[in-house]
Amino acid sequence: MITIALSKGRIFDETIPLLAAAGVATTEDPETSRKLILATNRKDVRVIIVRATDVPTYVQYGAADVGVAGKDVLDEHGGQGLYQPLDLNIARCKMMVAVAEGFDYERMVRHGARLKVATKYLQTAREHFAGKGVHVDLIKLYGSMELAPLVGLADAIVDLVSTGNTLKANGLIAVEEIASISARLIVNQASLKLKRVGVQPLLDAFARAAA
Ligand code: AMP
Repeated sequence: MITIALSKGRIFDETIPLLAAAGVATTEDPETSRKLILATNRKDVRVIIVRATDVPTYVQYGAADVGVAGKDVLDEHGGQGLYQPLDLNIARCKMMVAVAEGFDYERMVRHGARLKVATKYLQTAREHFAGKGVHVDLIKLYGSMELAPLVGLADAIVDLVSTGNTLKANGLIAVEEIASISARLIVNQASLKLKRVGVQPLLDAFARAAA
């Protein structure tokens, strides 16, 4: 049995065509089903639905053989025990620093001010600001980072930006790009060796479809 870990929403939706290219289709839709283990048209392949941030963990420990996770999530996880063979070029967005309109980020940085930064991505933010030599107090949030500068919790946020609509709707502007983000295929290192016969055709089909 090959187990594929996916998260609901954008990653699931954009992985469906790649699975189809590998001849795999789930028999249920995770948006309407409450099941966490989805059968597929193939007896030897199943899909498990987990939180996006948990995908690397399931694959790392071999509870899933293969998974699809954003580079943002993988950077935070660290990638231990994972083989990362493919950039799938899906769920594309950018990791950005954003501030409230009117907040002079450049000036603050130039003057060596200590900034309060709210984010879900502590590791990414820590590395970014350390690389720039900017002193920051990081505030861990689990969602709706855009609110933090508006109510005085933080001077800046580090978050994913896709269309920019969420920033705009909340009077924020992106001031710095940290990284380009897309989803990656990840594979458990032991599965790659022990289940090569099942896993390799899946990787090949994904590679062809993502190219
Ligand atoms: P947007 O308004 O299109 O710029 O989207 C911004 C919101 O969607 C933010 O709350 C982000 O955290 C989230 N977001 C954007 N792109 C992604 C992605 N590829 N994966 C997960 N969340 C995302």
